[in-house]
Amino acid sequence: MLALTTTPGTANSARLEEVAPPQINGGLLVRTLAIGICGTDAEIIAGHYGTPPQGSDRLIMGHESIGIIEEAPDGSGFSKGDLVAGIVRRPDPVPCSACRAGEWDMCHNGLYTERGIKGLHGYGSQWFSLEPAFAVKVDPSLGVLGVLLEPMSVVAKAWDHIAKIGHRAAWTPRHVLVTGAGPVGLLAALMGVQQGYDVHVFDRAEWGLKPDLVRDLGASYHIGDLHKLNITPDIVLECTGASSVVLDVINMTAPGSIVCLAGVSSGSRVVELDLGLVSRAMVLENDVIFGSVNANRRHFELAADALRTADKGWLSRLINRRVPLAKWSDALNRTDGDVKVILEFEDRI
Ligand code: BGC
Repeated sequence: MLALTTTPGTANSARLEEVAPPQINGGLLVRTLAIGICGTDAEIIAGHYGTPPQGSDRLIMGHESIGIIEEAPDGSGFSKGDLVAGIVRRPDPVPCSACRAGEWDMCHNGLYTERGIKGLHGYGSQWFSLEPAFAVKVDPSLGVLGVLLEPMSVVAKAWDHIAKIGHRAAWTPRHVLVTGAGPVGLLAALMGVQQGYDVHVFDRAEWGLKPDLVRDLGASYHIGDLHKLNITPDIVLECTGASSVVLDVINMTAPGSIVCLAGVSSGSRVVELDLGLVSRAMVLENDVIFGSVNANRRHFELAADALRTADKGWLSRLINRRVPLAKWSDALNRTDGDVKVILEFEDRI
């Protein structure tokens, strides 16, 4: 079968190649419809991130998946024809107390593995195998849009932890700021709107799909200087990872605010920060800044619900390029105005 593979650590080594069919080992056999391409994949392709499985120097890419079950063992809870996506992370082998509790997204020792990223082959092959415990059913009406389940799960976790932190005291948040209108930012805004918040999205794009998608959600779109915005957010989901944006957002929040850092910083830009002043403000206003990565099964299920009730027209516009397998390299080259690019393994359904 064909698979999209790369050699982690070696820039631009991605290729489409023949590989052995997956070993099912009593699990599910899934026919791939599509994989999504994200910033993490870009880093893997650039040779900056990713680890192949032990004993191999190539890694099958793809951690955002959607496919149809071809074979399911009796009693697995799944049947041939079900639309499913795979969970990304697998618990560490020790396991740490978080992984033992099914919260591998909070792994304490870093020995977790991730399909298509760290130590395990991904979902970017014509068929893939999946353990039932790491398969999530997607509403059939979503079809290939179910490829958004994984980025949505990351957002569902961020929102889940925001709520858990918020409920430490009486809490009536209203204004939400999302920085960055990439797929994660847009899906974060969607979940904010679904929860009834007044949502504001900040990005650099002056026109095009991003502002349109934000406005069509019923949220407000902003460009320019962040600190000149006339909003005092109670909740911030920072999805750019840009140090200057992080600094701006932590200086503009309301007392008792919660800032979730969901974007991974490249760490390349130096900004001046008076940590004394920041910590003073945080203490005196009971502010919280926290980081969030990955998602566990519960978050994938929350995400499946959020996608099921979302407007499908809106979700399908968020995927602005659908690249057929034969043109796989186009999917890996980001172009201006891209939001979410997917690589399709079959004709569209
Ligand atoms: C994925 C996460 C993963 C993270 C770090 C992200 O792109 O969505 O599931 O944990 O990369 O590898």
